[in-house]
Amino acid sequence: MGVFTMSDSVKYLLPEDRIPRAWYNIAADLPEPPPAVLHPGTGQPIGPADLSAIFPMPLILQEVAQDREIEIPDPVRDVYKLWRPSPLYRALRLERALDTPARIFYKYEGVSPAGSHKPNTAVAQAYFNRESGFTKLSTETGAGQWGSSLAFAGSVFGLEVKVYMVKVSFQQKPYRRALMETYGATCIPSPSEETDCGRAILAATPDSPGSLGIAISEAVEVAAKNPDTNYSLGSVLNHVLLHQTVIGLEAIEQMEMAGYWPDVVIGCAGGGSNFAGLAFPFIGRKLREGTDMRIIAVEPSACPTLTRGTYAYDFGDTAHLTPLVKMYTLGSQFVPPGFHAGGLRYHGMAPMVSHVKELGLIEARAVHQTPCFEAGVVFARAEGIVPAPETTHAIRVAIDEALTCKADGRARTILFNLSGHGHFDMQAYTDYFAGKLEDRDYDEASLRDALAALPQVAA
Ligand SMILES: *Cc1c(COP(=O)(O)O)cnc(C)c1O
Repeated sequence: MGVFTMSDSVKYLLPEDRIPRAWYNIAADLPEPPPAVLHPGTGQPIGPADLSAIFPMPLILQEVAQDREIEIPDPVRDVYKLWRPSPLYRALRLERALDTPARIFYKYEGVSPAGSHKPNTAVAQAYFNRESGFTKLSTETGAGQWGSSLAFAGSVFGLEVKVYMVKVSFQQKPYRRALMETYGATCIPSPSEETDCGRAILAATPDSPGSLGIAISEAVEVAAKNPDTNYSLGSVLNHVLLHQTVIGLEAIEQMEMAGYWPDVVIGCAGGGSNFAGLAFPFIGRKLREGTDMRIIAVEPSACPTLTRGTYAYDFGDTAHLTPLVKMYTLGSQFVPPGFHAGGLRYHGMAPMVSHVKELGLIEARAVHQTPCFEAGVVFARAEGIVPAPETTHAIRVAIDEALTCKADGRARTILFNLSGHGHFDMQAYTDYFAGKLEDRDYDEASLRDALAALPQVAA
């Protein structure tokens, strides 16, 4: 390894007026539509009216839209200007550290106010809710990234935001909570005494550490019961993935500036939104123009939704308040073992990501957390950015792909999404350096039990 200077990093910047004017809707290009969303009571496909208790109409229409392009309103683009277009970097110093012929590029979403890709959709959701006359939003958060992103967006558009935060994270991540409160949001540990489902869970398990599924149930209940309040979800739904496509649309332009087209596109996948945000515009090119490339979603071995889950109809939450969606799932009663990438702990995967997996358009890979942190540290020392624990999953596979290039002597181009920085997650790095991380697989028996409880849906 030689001595590198910072001028080795190559940064591709777009001017402000190149912020996309429309989001990209992959539904327009798919060879077959994804399975219908079903009403949990009747088992029949739901219509827009069924969702109007908790979502504003513009977002419901985006959920089912078929147009390829959905216009981004100017007030949303104006807020995007705070940090977009985000930079694309060529990781030359990492390439040299790995001694690989591969070209490694990354799109950096950590430049947003909350430090991740999540404000791309939080800002849009807050805007459409305010335009539709709602004044309050309720939501859940795991590690706190989504809660802080929606808190930021609420402050921009003058909405009150209430966040149900998974109790164990509420206790372990006081700074994320402080960030939400700084933006003016209220943060409540979940399960709480504030909702029927929270009280029911506390009655049965007073020391419940909480889960995303439980926190979603609480937030949905509050929205369903209060006419001035809507629910907001940070991943999984079609409209969320849609808003994230600004990432891939910009990246396509930036890769063209760099003069390379990716052979491999990689993203970490929790609910699937940052992965889809980068990958869907590339998949669109593949579907429309036949430009071939491999696209890899990376998940933790401790929450292996795409690699070990079942593609089936399931609920989005623990208390079964949500509609039934067909997705890769570990079962809605799934409570993951402790691991550090809190944003990758959801029991399901976005229906649209699940569908493109079924269609064979993407691959999935599961990785353990220790090799991910190892990759995160190699990356930080070469490129300077300390990645979020979630993001290290994408980096692990990007590095593995680059090492394959070294082994077979082929100079492939690798692009990954650096979904966020890890400045609020330094305890995880401290634990890694202290050798305290465990690499657990989700065990076969728990997997069987959770899947046995899947709802029965007529085919
Ligand atoms: C929330 C989060 C994720 C996982 O969520 P997706 O919807 O799968 O993108 C990944 N990276 C970061 C930095 C996050 O905050």
